[in-house]
Amino acid sequence: MLITCPYCGPRDVSEFAYQGDGNRTRPDPASTDPEAWNAYVYDRLNPAGLHNEIWQHAGGCRAHLAVVRDTLTHEISSVRFAREHGAPAHGRRKPGAKA
Ligand SMILES: [Zn+2]
Repeated sequence: MLITCPYCGPRDVSEFAYQGDGNRTRPDPASTDPEAWNAYVYDRLNPAGLHNEIWQHAGGCRAHLAVVRDTLTHEISSVRFAREHGAPAHGRRKPGAKA
């Protein structure tokens, strides 16, 4: 599987580290709502199809990337810098929403 880093170009997936589900939204750090924190820490989507993911180019420029990957085919349809990905390209789960 190749991931096209916006800085470095196409690179083997072995250069990247999976950083997690890109659908999560961190609650306000001052929040004491246990359900919001529980959802942030433990709830994960497990779609058969397009999935928003965060990867780090750990073996390259070290940039964090927002990747849309098809979990069935591993085809990558979008790669952006994570800092630019206010809303993922493929849907977004509302905080606390059930999968
Ligand atoms: Zn890179």
